Amino acid sequence: MAKKTIHVVSHTHWDREWYMPFEAHHVRLLKTMDTLLDLFEQDPEYRSFYLDGQTIVLEDYLQVYPEKRDKLIELAKEGKISAGPWYVLQDEFLTSGEANIRNLQVGHRDARPFGAVSKIGYFPDSFGNMGQAPQLLRQAGIDTAIFGRGVKATGFDNKVEDAAAQESPFSELRWVSPDGSEVLGILFANWYSNGNEIPVDKEAAKTFWDRAIAAAERYASTSHLLMMNGCDHQPPQTDLSAALRTARELYPDYEFIHSNFDDYIKAVKAELPQQLSVIKGELRGQHTNGWYTLVNTASARVYIKQKTRKTRRCSRKWPSRWPRSPTGTGCRILTRS
Ligand SMILES: [Zn+2]
Repeated sequence: MAKKTIHVVSHTHWDREWYMPFEAHHVRLLKTMDTLLDLFEQDPEYRSFYLDGQTIVLEDYLQVYPEKRDKLIELAKEGKISAGPWYVLQDEFLTSGEANIRNLQVGHRDARPFGAVSKIGYFPDSFGNMGQAPQLLRQAGIDTAIFGRGVKATGFDNKVEDAAAQESPFSELRWVSPDGSEVLGILFANWYSNGNEIPVDKEAAKTFWDRAIAAAERYASTSHLLMMNGCDHQPPQTDLSAALRTARELYPDYEFIHSNFDDYIKAVKAELPQQLSVIKGELRGQHTNGWYTLVNTASARVYIKQKTRKTRRCSRKWPSRWPRSPTGTGCRILTRS
């Protein structure tokens, strides 16, 4: 049997403006990026780092170090860092449909000067995913979405009672919009930190990999296993190359590579089984391997709601024969002005 391949994809998930005050997090980003740039200089085996699918990370870094622009462009062109496809990682349900489209457009516009736009529908931490995402992605020339919530992976031993109930035995599935647009969906069945801080020490590495490999094999439909080397606001693992050397020594039956999403997706596509679950529309399944979808956390701060409202106009009046409008504005449908 051919060896299974373990694709270690390094990344950081960047909760830019809510986790800490923006400026505190901004300083943290500068340190993270500086560490990354040094790592690329010092370790030729360190191949790539995914910048969370949002161009604003690059913008924030260049705001402080505009002189690093050429360096970032060089790294992006070499495929070492990613740009886009989004401007920010949005909550798809709290923002309007129009905002989701603009977000992708702005992300593409801002990524273009870096020479390469990441063509992945990236939704690592969204609390559920909008039904029109495959349609929107397809129109942007994107045929694969990667997400953390909304579908429950059941593993090979569990019978899937009803595919329409947003369950899939595999981390790979077919995701279809109401208009019939379809993308390959890849669920982080073991979350986006399943390969975070991989130990270099042999004993610790054995414990880590035994668990991580078994968990990935439970859901992978191909011989390519995804290990997400990073977590929330996590700086790059500077001794990753040493950790991979330990892994190769311990597990000669597996091939370990410092990979990236493009290589991983290409390899997965070449081996996809015929029978994948088809999931239609919104991904709102609650029980997604320990991480709840929390689709009803539809709240925003009052001043944000007020500002959002100010940018809209009333496109249809509240009919006078109806009971009084709950907002008291006399407006039934607000659209962007
Ligand atoms: Zn997040």
